[in-house]
Amino acid sequence: MKSDMNRSHTTETSSVDVKYLLILAVFFCAVFLTTQISLVLDAGAEGEAAFWWPNAILLSVLLLNRRERWLAIFVIGFTANVLAHLVGRDSVPVSFALSGCDMLEAAISAYPFAWTTERSIRFSRPRELARLCVVGGVIAPAISAVCASSLFRLLYDRVPPHFGLNWFLSNSLGAIIVTPIILSLFDHEDTAFFERKRILEAIGLLSLKFFCTYTVFQHIGFPLFFLLFPPLLLIVVRLGMRGGVLGVCIIALFSIVFTIHQRGPVAMMQDTSWQRQVFHIQVLLASAVLCVALVAVVLNERRMLEQAARKSEQLYRLLAENSRDIIVLTDLQHRREYISPAVQWTMGWDPRDLVGTTYRDSIVHPDDIPAMTATLDALKSGEPAKSLAYRCRKKDGSYLWMEANISLYCDRVTGEPIGYVNVVRNIAERKAAEEKLQDAYLALEALASVDPLTGAANRRQLDESLSQEWRRAIRTGSPLSLLLLDVDHFKLYNDLYGHLRGDTCLRQIAEAALRVFQRPGDIVARFGGEEFAIVLPDTPRSGAFDLAEHFRRTIEELNIEHPSSDHGVVTISIGCATLIPERGTNTDILIDSADHALYEAKRAGRNRVIDAVDLRGQTLSTG
Ligand code: GH3
Ligand code: MG
Ligand code: MG
Repeated sequence: MKSDMNRSHTTETSSVDVKYLLILAVFFCAVFLTTQISLVLDAGAEGEAAFWWPNAILLSVLLLNRRERWLAIFVIGFTANVLAHLVGRDSVPVSFALSGCDMLEAAISAYPFAWTTERSIRFSRPRELARLCVVGGVIAPAISAVCASSLFRLLYDRVPPHFGLNWFLSNSLGAIIVTPIILSLFDHEDTAFFERKRILEAIGLLSLKFFCTYTVFQHIGFPLFFLLFPPLLLIVVRLGMRGGVLGVCIIALFSIVFTIHQRGPVAMMQDTSWQRQVFHIQVLLASAVLCVALVAVVLNERRMLEQAARKSEQLYRLLAENSRDIIVLTDLQHRREYISPAVQWTMGWDPRDLVGTTYRDSIVHPDDIPAMTATLDALKSGEPAKSLAYRCRKKDGSYLWMEANISLYCDRVTGEPIGYVNVVRNIAERKAAEEKLQDAYLALEALASVDPLTGAANRRQLDESLSQEWRRAIRTGSPLSLLLLDVDHFKLYNDLYGHLRGDTCLRQIAEAALRVFQRPGDIVARFGGEEFAIVLPDTPRSGAFDLAEHFRRTIEELNIEHPSSDHGVVTISIGCATLIPERGTNTDILIDSADHALYEAKRAGRNRVIDAVDLRGQTLSTG
């Protein structure tokens, strides 16, 4: 098994090596041949070397390969270059010197691409196109031109006229024309040109390109250069950069063939040497390549923006459409513009039923519309996000408690508010739980024995304790006393000071009562409103009366200001009743008697104690 794996690994490696060696061989031939062609064209031109593509081929091969292979590529490029020079009868020092300058130029041009993180280099990306134009098209040829001129002078003592300028121009044009063409042709990810569904379009556009280029270059008379560009741009837009460079190749082919046959606009130029013609063709091709690359850059940027926009839209849509909350976007007039699909499974509505409607004319419960309006108005006037519980009508007509979290959203560019975003959550379960909790609280309160405001016993506790004492008194035959007391003119007190101070006053009275009636078995209870009941077990009439009187004075002496009262302070009236209960009777008789006595105390002028036994109008105590 292991040996199998090793074998397959070895086979793979060797096939890669063979491919690599083949590439190097082709590369060697390409550099050798183009150098040869250039030198042949150059022969006798007195330095007007108008054509120099070997460096561009070397640069392209470097950019198509990993950095580890660059040394080998340089060695082969250098060898091919030197050999071509030697075959072209240049001296050994000149061959080495000029080839060295070419290697230097290729190294400088390749340098900015050496540490790129991109998987492959594409001139449809602005940064890479700029590197090629600035470094490969200007800096590197300029440096190599200066070096070549200097070495040439050193070796021959004489430099042909325009040697440096021609070196620079031919190498620069070579880099701009050849490198993008080769890299695009080897860019396997740029597939638009080869898509099956576009095959007819590709054939049609290339035919158009053939036709226009043919027309331009077979024509003698008016120079029709401008006809070359519209179909070229159309090809880039429709078929991408790879299609565009094929269009440039068509121009190259026609321009060379027809110019050789003395046809077309380049051949028509008067007083031009063939080196000049080659130069003009290269300027034309460089313009075409730059045109193609610039359009590809613009298209590429637009595509990337579209991709980013599509991706973020997909992301937001994914969030909105998978959220259990309903997401609603409205304009400033509250018209719904978007509703997420959660509305379907939460409320039964199809989002399309609600788009275009507002909260006023559709599903919000009429009783909740004022609160919703107030919330939206508050947001509009600058308040931050708000939440609101409201009822929403389901498609089946029933209402559901929902909670809206609403905020304004603004235009990203102008910052102006353009609508509301509302995240709506089903809170029916929470509401039901809250209601249950409230019921439980009320039930608990009913079970409790203490009045929450005053801390005295509550009415339920009073009833229970009184019945208990009643039964005990029946058993023991002992007297049972009840005091009912009512705060005098308490309504006026509330009117003057407000209910909160009224509550405080009631608490003060209850505290005083709990202080005064301390005997075990005594019960101080809130009877209702501002009335208290005090149960005094085993207390005879006289004792109860004295205690009541003592308590009345205690309250008076609290000196709680009450300007609307005749006494200027808070006072109380007390009705007393004492009975030795008998079997077959109940507590009502005792309460009625005390109540009656209290009524009499009020009628007699308040701030007094009246005992039920003296109810024939006899006042036993006055303040
Ligand atoms: P009077 O008893 O002397 O005849 O006059 P009044 O003003 O006290 O008359 P009434 O008994 O009719 O009024 C009772 C007032 O007590 C009415 C209400 O405003 C107030 N009251 C009842 N319960 C409370 C309470 O829990 N807190 C407060 N602050 N006021 C209460
Ligand atoms: Mg009252
Ligand atoms: Mg009162």
